[in-house]
Amino acid sequence: MSTLNDLRKIPLSSAAGNGKKTLSSYQALGVENLYDLINLRPRTYEDRTGRVCIGEQVPGGAWTNTIVQAQSKSFFGKGLKNVKISVRDTQSAVRGELLGFNRPYLDKMVVTGNFYRLYANQLPEGYRYPQFSKFELTALNDFTDEEKAVSGGLLAVYPLSGNLTQNMIRKHMRAAFSRISEIENDLPETMYSKFRLINTDRSYRNLHFPRTAEDIKQALRTLGFSEIFYMQLLAKRRSSSPDGSFRRSVTPRIYEKEKKLIEGLPFSLTDDQLKVLKEIREDMSSGKSMNRLLQGDVGSGKTLVALIAAVHCIQEGRQVAFMAPTELLARQHAMNAAKLFEKLDINTAFLDGSVTGKARSLLLKNLASKNIDLIIGTHALFSKDVEYADLGFVIVDEQHRFGVEQRRALFSKGQNPDVLMMTATPIPRTLALTIYGDLNVSTIKTMPAGRLPVKTFVVGPSRREDMYNAVGVELQRGHQAYFIYPRIGDDTDEEHESELKDVTTMYSFLSEKYSGFRGELIHSRLPDEQKIEILNDFNTGKISFLVSTSVVEVGIDVPNATCMVIEHADFFGLSALHQLRGRVGRGKLQSWCFLSPGDNVSKDGLKRLEVLRNSNDGFVIAEQDLLLRGPGEISGLRQSGFTNLRFVSLDKDLDMIAAARQEVTELLERDPGLLEADHAVIRRALLELQSF
Ligand code: ADP
Ligand code: MG
Repeated sequence: MSTLNDLRKIPLSSAAGNGKKTLSSYQALGVENLYDLINLRPRTYEDRTGRVCIGEQVPGGAWTNTIVQAQSKSFFGKGLKNVKISVRDTQSAVRGELLGFNRPYLDKMVVTGNFYRLYANQLPEGYRYPQFSKFELTALNDFTDEEKAVSGGLLAVYPLSGNLTQNMIRKHMRAAFSRISEIENDLPETMYSKFRLINTDRSYRNLHFPRTAEDIKQALRTLGFSEIFYMQLLAKRRSSSPDGSFRRSVTPRIYEKEKKLIEGLPFSLTDDQLKVLKEIREDMSSGKSMNRLLQGDVGSGKTLVALIAAVHCIQEGRQVAFMAPTELLARQHAMNAAKLFEKLDINTAFLDGSVTGKARSLLLKNLASKNIDLIIGTHALFSKDVEYADLGFVIVDEQHRFGVEQRRALFSKGQNPDVLMMTATPIPRTLALTIYGDLNVSTIKTMPAGRLPVKTFVVGPSRREDMYNAVGVELQRGHQAYFIYPRIGDDTDEEHESELKDVTTMYSFLSEKYSGFRGELIHSRLPDEQKIEILNDFNTGKISFLVSTSVVEVGIDVPNATCMVIEHADFFGLSALHQLRGRVGRGKLQSWCFLSPGDNVSKDGLKRLEVLRNSNDGFVIAEQDLLLRGPGEISGLRQSGFTNLRFVSLDKDLDMIAAARQEVTELLERDPGLLEADHAVIRRALLELQSF
């Protein structure tokens, strides 16, 4: 038997091998050990229970799902990149051809004479035989007996990143489960019967290798219950002060350096900013630790408020950690803070995964000896070896991007530090309370004075030329523009095929179009230093337009940029679009946002774009997002960025959330110290959660 915590100690390489590229692709998905791996929730499932043979299927109909034998292989086209594999269906005996464009590795992977499970979409026009270019081929001997028994079965479909493919992840998942012994239950036995849960081990196995839809449902119920139970238990324990006593609340002071910082700003704070600062100072000087969510649209001045609050805490002689969701954003905040604090005699530092070796150990030493007042970085701030002398305040930017566990790790670094979470994706208050328990919410509604609302247009195919010209005019005026596309040209992502415009092609197109201006291409696969250099050049106006994937989604602040062009806009979620739009309209200039849907945009896709055209208000957009996505979509809310709950869906599982909440309340009333024998498992889980 192993506990879930044991699995955290088993490195991912034991299931996925030592390939660097593979491991870093997993890292991008937040997967670093076997625990993370089995918690990688499938995006959806494909039903492959019925056999559909080659030759049986009309093109465009159901996908071919069968067993084939490989007959021959050859390269075609230029440069040994495209592989053609001839196969014969073992049941219908019909021959088919698989065209692996840009998949040269298939030549090595497929062995003539061997048998494979084929899942494929037939091209409308075959040459002599039915042809397939979208296909998955899995060696039969890769399947466990359990899977063979269910024919194609229900196949988990995972989120992808980097070089990962569905088949790789499935293979690694199988390797993981064959490596780990039975997983111990992580809830008291009585709860399993009370809430009709299945055991933990079965839940995880069913999640990844279900035989029926019911298997999936039960797995999600059990894992979801456990997730929300522990989340609420932690929230509840955090919010009750450790010794039960309360210091009397005093009128909060405003310290010298805070005043100096505020007076030194080239503008005055908005009323909402002042109000929020007051709320934060009051929290900070009350006896309880602060647990506050600060919501406000992009550009409303949240970060500035957080940094002023940081000064407050530093003046009380304690340390502050400021965590951002990406390295890029962390660096921007660090630069910002360094500038703001220049004359205040406050020591700031920056820490992310790239800080290593001597620099890192020196930094950690300074942090542990209180030579650093404010440290800004990614979740590296809460790695195991990072120790704080006296962590009093934790700021979390764009909190929805952090998982529950990252948040827990962070809380455990200080003695109940004050916590301020910032988000531009507002959470309806009822939901926030349900999920986070005792959480206070501050809101900035007013934008800094002098900002003009961004004008948003939905641009159909016939108007695209006009759109490019309008941007051209802005470039002529010395302003800057962003062009956003959903994918990178060189990837082999099976799911979003080539009809999507990709950044590389569009980059050449736009470079020609705006030949008098300097443009740069930026996407997540560029090395960080290069990204940062490009963004700096954009910042200083050396670059006129950026052609980008959604890496600019958060945090880039260039007031001179007035155009945001998002092509295939229907491919993005509402909140992502709103965030992207927030990159413009950050100065005094009139800004424009052009949303250009793909040619095959769906009705719902268009509806989403309409929501954006009609509103600049993040709160309205969040509510609409909730409405439009609705239930039905397995992980809709999760992806919409409200929270990183893995297994619980906020729209569908409200009853379960309430039940778990009730259970937590009763449990803590009856047995606050968790001393009953049946509660040992909870006690251990809590300890593990807080210390990992
Ligand atoms: P958020 O974190 O909410 O996206 P920021 O704090 O990054 O917003 O602020 C966005 C920009 O607006 C920054 O350049 C900041 O300096 C500026 N800003 C913040 N508060 C004000 C204000 N009261 N008046 C004018 N500009 C402001
Ligand atoms: Mg921000």
